Amino acid sequence: MIARPFFNSGILVLLLATACNRPLPVPETNKNSNEHLLAATLFHQQAAELQALCLQAYNIASRNMDAISDTASNLSSLAIVMDLDETVLDNSPYEAQSIIHGLSYPQGWDEWMNAASAKALPGAVDFIKSVREKGVQVFYITNRREKYREATLVNLQNLDIAPADSNHLLLRGEESSKETRRRKVLENYQIVMLFGDNLTDFAAIFDGNPNTLRRAEITDSLRADFGSRFIVFPNTMYGDWLNAITDYDKNLSAKQKLEKYKAVLQGF
Ligand SMILES: [Mg+2]
Repeated sequence: MIARPFFNSGILVLLLATACNRPLPVPETNKNSNEHLLAATLFHQQAAELQALCLQAYNIASRNMDAISDTASNLSSLAIVMDLDETVLDNSPYEAQSIIHGLSYPQGWDEWMNAASAKALPGAVDFIKSVREKGVQVFYITNRREKYREATLVNLQNLDIAPADSNHLLLRGEESSKETRRRKVLENYQIVMLFGDNLTDFAAIFDGNPNTLRRAEITDSLRADFGSRFIVFPNTMYGDWLNAITDYDKNLSAKQKLEKYKAVLQGF
Protein backbone atom coordinates (compact mmCIF):
# COMPACT_ATOMS: atom_id res chain seq x y z
CA MET A 1 0.00 0.00 0.00
CA ILE A 2 1.29 3.40 -0.97
CA ALA A 3 1.33 5.85 1.91
CA ARG A 4 -0.82 8.90 1.24
CA PRO A 5 1.09 12.15 1.53
CA PHE A 6 0.10 14.13 4.60
CA PHE A 7 -0.71 17.20 2.53
CA ASN A 8 -2.56 17.22 -0.71
CA SER A 9 -0.98 19.36 -3.41
CA GLY A 10 -3.44 22.26 -2.92
CA ILE A 11 -2.57 22.61 0.75
CA LEU A 12 1.12 22.40 -0.11
CA VAL A 13 0.78 25.28 -2.59
CA LEU A 14 -1.09 27.29 0.05
CA LEU A 15 1.59 26.69 2.65
CA LEU A 16 4.44 27.48 0.30
CA ALA A 17 2.79 30.69 -0.87
CA THR A 18 2.10 31.74 2.72
CA ALA A 19 5.65 30.93 3.76
CA CYS A 20 7.01 33.07 0.95
CA ASN A 21 4.53 35.85 1.85
CA ARG A 22 3.53 36.19 -1.79
CA PRO A 23 0.03 36.35 -3.29
CA LEU A 24 -1.38 32.93 -4.02
CA PRO A 25 -1.03 31.97 -7.67
CA VAL A 26 -4.40 32.28 -9.36
CA PRO A 27 -5.28 29.24 -11.49
CA GLU A 28 -5.43 30.19 -15.19
CA THR A 29 -9.14 29.32 -15.38
CA ASN A 30 -9.98 31.72 -12.51
CA LYS A 31 -7.95 34.63 -13.78
CA ASN A 32 -9.77 37.73 -14.93
CA SER A 33 -8.73 38.78 -18.38
CA ASN A 34 -8.61 42.48 -17.44
CA GLU A 35 -8.35 43.12 -21.16
CA HIS A 36 -10.12 46.46 -20.75
CA LEU A 37 -7.30 47.56 -18.43
CA LEU A 38 -4.27 46.90 -20.60
CA ALA A 39 -4.15 49.96 -22.86
CA ALA A 40 -5.85 52.01 -20.11
CA THR A 41 -3.02 51.30 -17.67
CA LEU A 42 -0.26 51.60 -20.25
CA PHE A 43 -1.53 55.11 -20.98
CA HIS A 44 -0.99 56.07 -17.33
CA GLN A 45 2.41 54.42 -17.07
CA GLN A 46 3.95 55.02 -20.49
CA ALA A 47 2.30 57.97 -22.24
CA ALA A 48 4.02 61.34 -22.15
CA GLU A 49 0.54 62.55 -23.07
CA LEU A 50 -0.71 61.56 -19.59
CA GLN A 51 2.16 63.52 -18.10
CA ALA A 52 1.33 66.50 -20.35
CA LEU A 53 -2.37 66.40 -19.46
CA CYS A 54 -1.57 66.51 -15.75
CA LEU A 55 0.87 69.39 -16.24
CA GLN A 56 -1.71 71.20 -18.37
CA ALA A 57 -4.30 70.82 -15.61
CA TYR A 58 -1.98 72.11 -12.91
CA ASN A 59 -0.72 74.97 -15.13
CA ILE A 60 -4.30 76.12 -15.70
CA ALA A 61 -4.99 75.83 -11.97
CA SER A 62 -1.86 77.87 -11.16
CA ARG A 63 -2.93 80.67 -13.46
CA ASN A 64 -6.40 80.62 -11.93
CA MET A 65 -4.92 80.74 -8.46
CA ASP A 66 -2.69 83.70 -9.36
CA ALA A 67 -5.71 85.58 -10.68
CA ILE A 68 -7.71 84.76 -7.55
CA SER A 69 -4.94 85.82 -5.20
CA ASP A 70 -4.50 89.12 -7.10
CA THR A 71 -8.04 90.16 -6.26
CA ALA A 72 -8.97 88.33 -3.04
CA SER A 73 -8.94 90.39 0.15
CA ASN A 74 -8.65 87.46 2.56
CA LEU A 75 -6.79 84.45 1.14
CA SER A 76 -7.08 82.47 4.37
CA SER A 77 -10.85 82.29 3.90
CA LEU A 78 -10.38 80.49 0.57
CA ALA A 79 -9.98 76.76 -0.04
CA ILE A 80 -9.37 74.31 -2.82
CA VAL A 81 -10.79 70.77 -2.67
CA MET A 82 -8.74 67.96 -4.17
CA ASP A 83 -9.55 64.34 -4.79
CA LEU A 84 -6.52 62.10 -4.19
CA ASP A 85 -6.52 59.00 -6.41
CA GLU A 86 -5.67 59.79 -10.04
CA THR A 87 -5.74 63.51 -9.19
CA VAL A 88 -2.84 63.87 -6.78
CA LEU A 89 -1.71 60.24 -6.42
CA ASP A 90 -0.91 57.66 -9.11
CA ASN A 91 -2.44 54.23 -8.45
CA SER A 92 -1.49 52.74 -11.80
CA PRO A 93 0.89 50.21 -10.13
CA TYR A 94 -2.17 48.64 -8.50
CA GLU A 95 -3.93 48.30 -11.85
CA ALA A 96 -0.76 46.92 -13.44
CA GLN A 97 -0.45 44.35 -10.66
CA SER A 98 -4.08 43.35 -11.23
CA ILE A 99 -3.38 42.71 -14.92
CA ILE A 100 -0.21 40.74 -14.20
CA HIS A 101 -1.92 38.46 -11.64
CA GLY A 102 -5.43 38.35 -13.14
CA LEU A 103 -7.03 39.96 -10.10
CA SER A 104 -9.82 42.48 -9.87
CA TYR A 105 -10.66 45.18 -7.32
CA PRO A 106 -10.76 44.89 -4.32
CA GLN A 107 -8.28 42.00 -4.46
CA GLY A 108 -4.87 43.37 -3.46
CA TRP A 109 -6.21 46.87 -2.67
CA ASP A 110 -5.42 46.56 1.07
CA GLU A 111 -1.83 45.67 0.28
CA TRP A 112 -1.48 48.58 -2.14
CA MET A 113 -3.03 51.10 0.30
CA ASN A 114 -0.92 49.91 3.20
CA ALA A 115 2.27 50.09 1.13
CA ALA A 116 1.66 53.89 1.12
CA SER A 117 3.95 54.16 -1.88
CA ALA A 118 1.85 55.91 -4.53
CA LYS A 119 3.81 58.53 -6.43
CA ALA A 120 2.47 62.02 -7.05
CA LEU A 121 1.09 62.87 -10.47
CA PRO A 122 3.14 65.36 -12.50
CA GLY A 123 2.74 68.93 -11.25
CA ALA A 124 0.77 68.04 -8.12
CA VAL A 125 3.40 68.59 -5.44
CA ASP A 126 4.62 71.97 -6.72
CA PHE A 127 1.06 73.19 -7.17
CA ILE A 128 -0.09 72.18 -3.68
CA LYS A 129 2.95 73.80 -2.09
CA SER A 130 2.40 77.04 -4.02
CA VAL A 131 -1.26 77.21 -2.96
CA ARG A 132 -0.28 76.77 0.67
CA GLU A 133 2.36 79.48 0.38
CA LYS A 134 -0.42 81.87 -0.59
CA GLY A 135 -2.28 80.95 2.59
CA VAL A 136 -5.15 79.20 0.79
CA GLN A 137 -6.45 76.03 2.50
CA VAL A 138 -5.99 72.66 0.79
CA PHE A 139 -8.63 70.03 1.59
CA TYR A 140 -8.34 66.44 0.40
CA ILE A 141 -11.72 64.75 -0.09
CA THR A 142 -11.15 61.13 -1.04
CA ASN A 143 -13.26 57.99 -1.24
CA ARG A 144 -10.50 55.97 0.37
CA ARG A 145 -12.02 54.35 3.43
CA GLU A 146 -11.35 55.63 6.95
CA LYS A 147 -9.31 52.48 7.69
CA TYR A 148 -6.69 53.77 5.24
CA ARG A 149 -6.26 57.13 7.01
CA GLU A 150 -2.87 56.30 8.55
CA ALA A 151 -1.44 54.81 5.37
CA THR A 152 -2.73 57.76 3.33
CA LEU A 153 -1.16 60.22 5.75
CA VAL A 154 2.18 58.41 5.52
CA ASN A 155 1.99 58.43 1.73
CA LEU A 156 1.21 62.18 1.63
CA GLN A 157 3.88 62.96 4.24
CA ASN A 158 6.48 61.09 2.19
CA LEU A 159 5.57 63.30 -0.77
CA ASP A 160 5.80 66.41 1.42
CA ILE A 161 2.14 67.30 0.87
CA ALA A 162 0.59 66.10 4.15
CA PRO A 163 -2.76 67.71 5.06
CA ALA A 164 -2.53 70.65 7.47
CA ASP A 165 -4.41 68.59 10.08
CA SER A 166 -6.87 65.69 10.24
CA ASN A 167 -9.77 68.04 9.34
CA HIS A 168 -8.13 68.63 5.99
CA LEU A 169 -8.29 64.93 5.02
CA LEU A 170 -11.91 63.82 4.60
CA LEU A 171 -12.19 60.12 3.85
CA ARG A 172 -15.23 58.10 2.92
CA GLY A 173 -17.76 57.20 5.60
CA GLU A 174 -21.07 55.49 4.85
CA GLU A 175 -21.87 57.42 1.70
CA SER A 176 -19.77 57.57 -1.43
CA SER A 177 -21.12 60.96 -2.48
CA LYS A 178 -18.72 63.75 -1.64
CA GLU A 179 -21.43 66.40 -1.35
CA THR A 180 -21.77 66.25 2.45
CA ARG A 181 -18.01 66.60 2.84
CA ARG A 182 -17.89 69.51 0.40
CA ARG A 183 -20.63 71.22 2.42
CA LYS A 184 -18.57 70.71 5.57
CA VAL A 185 -15.68 72.62 4.00
CA LEU A 186 -18.13 75.31 2.85
CA GLU A 187 -19.19 75.93 6.46
CA ASN A 188 -15.92 77.76 7.04
CA TYR A 189 -14.35 78.45 3.67
CA GLN A 190 -15.16 79.57 0.17
CA ILE A 191 -14.18 76.82 -2.29
CA VAL A 192 -12.52 78.48 -5.29
CA MET A 193 -11.49 75.34 -7.23
CA LEU A 194 -12.13 71.60 -7.17
CA PHE A 195 -9.82 68.93 -8.61
CA GLY A 196 -10.77 65.42 -9.67
CA ASP A 197 -10.68 62.61 -12.22
CA ASN A 198 -14.31 61.66 -11.62
CA LEU A 199 -17.07 64.20 -12.23
CA THR A 200 -18.56 63.27 -8.87
CA ASP A 201 -15.53 65.06 -7.41
CA PHE A 202 -17.11 68.33 -8.52
CA ALA A 203 -20.87 68.28 -8.03
CA ALA A 204 -23.61 66.03 -6.65
CA ILE A 205 -25.49 66.34 -9.91
CA PHE A 206 -23.13 63.71 -11.36
CA ASP A 207 -23.74 61.13 -8.62
CA GLY A 208 -25.07 57.80 -9.89
CA ASN A 209 -26.25 58.95 -13.30
CA PRO A 210 -26.10 57.07 -16.62
CA ASN A 211 -23.55 58.17 -19.19
CA THR A 212 -26.17 59.53 -21.56
CA LEU A 213 -27.19 62.07 -18.91
CA ARG A 214 -23.61 62.70 -17.70
CA ARG A 215 -22.42 63.42 -21.21
CA ALA A 216 -25.30 65.00 -23.07
CA GLU A 217 -26.88 67.16 -20.40
CA ILE A 218 -25.01 67.68 -17.15
CA THR A 219 -21.48 68.15 -18.42
CA ASP A 220 -22.67 70.39 -21.21
CA SER A 221 -24.69 72.54 -18.80
CA LEU A 222 -21.54 73.17 -16.74
CA ARG A 223 -19.22 73.81 -19.68
CA ALA A 224 -17.99 77.18 -18.41
CA ASP A 225 -16.73 75.60 -15.18
CA PHE A 226 -14.19 73.24 -16.75
CA GLY A 227 -10.76 74.82 -16.56
CA SER A 228 -12.05 77.52 -14.22
CA ARG A 229 -13.78 76.17 -11.09
CA PHE A 230 -13.32 72.53 -12.06
CA ILE A 231 -9.90 71.08 -12.92
CA VAL A 232 -10.29 67.62 -14.49
CA PHE A 233 -7.68 64.86 -14.74
CA PRO A 234 -7.64 61.88 -17.11
CA ASN A 235 -8.37 58.42 -15.76
CA THR A 236 -8.68 55.70 -18.37
CA MET A 237 -8.45 52.86 -15.82
CA TYR A 238 -11.63 53.17 -13.75
CA GLY A 239 -14.28 55.62 -12.64
CA ASP A 240 -17.98 56.36 -12.82
CA TRP A 241 -17.71 56.62 -16.60
CA LEU A 242 -17.06 52.86 -16.50
CA ASN A 243 -19.42 52.12 -13.58
CA ALA A 244 -22.24 53.82 -15.46
CA ILE A 245 -21.89 51.33 -18.33
CA THR A 246 -22.73 48.52 -15.91
CA ASP A 247 -25.52 50.53 -14.22
CA TYR A 248 -23.36 50.79 -11.06
CA ASP A 249 -24.04 47.10 -10.40
CA LYS A 250 -21.37 45.86 -7.98
CA ASN A 251 -22.57 42.26 -8.17
CA LEU A 252 -21.51 41.60 -11.74
CA SER A 253 -18.54 39.33 -12.38
CA ALA A 254 -15.53 40.65 -14.26
CA LYS A 255 -16.65 38.63 -17.27
CA GLN A 256 -20.19 40.08 -17.15
CA LYS A 257 -18.77 43.60 -16.93
CA LEU A 258 -16.55 43.00 -19.93
CA GLU A 259 -19.57 41.84 -21.94
CA LYS A 260 -21.43 45.03 -21.04
CA TYR A 261 -18.45 47.21 -22.00
CA LYS A 262 -18.29 45.53 -25.40
CA ALA A 263 -22.05 45.83 -25.88
CA VAL A 264 -21.95 49.65 -25.84
CA LEU A 265 -19.15 49.96 -28.41
CA GLN A 266 -20.33 52.01 -31.36
CA GLY A 267 -18.88 50.99 -34.69
CA PHE A 268 -19.65 52.55 -38.06
MG1 LIG B 1 -10.00 59.94 -8.03
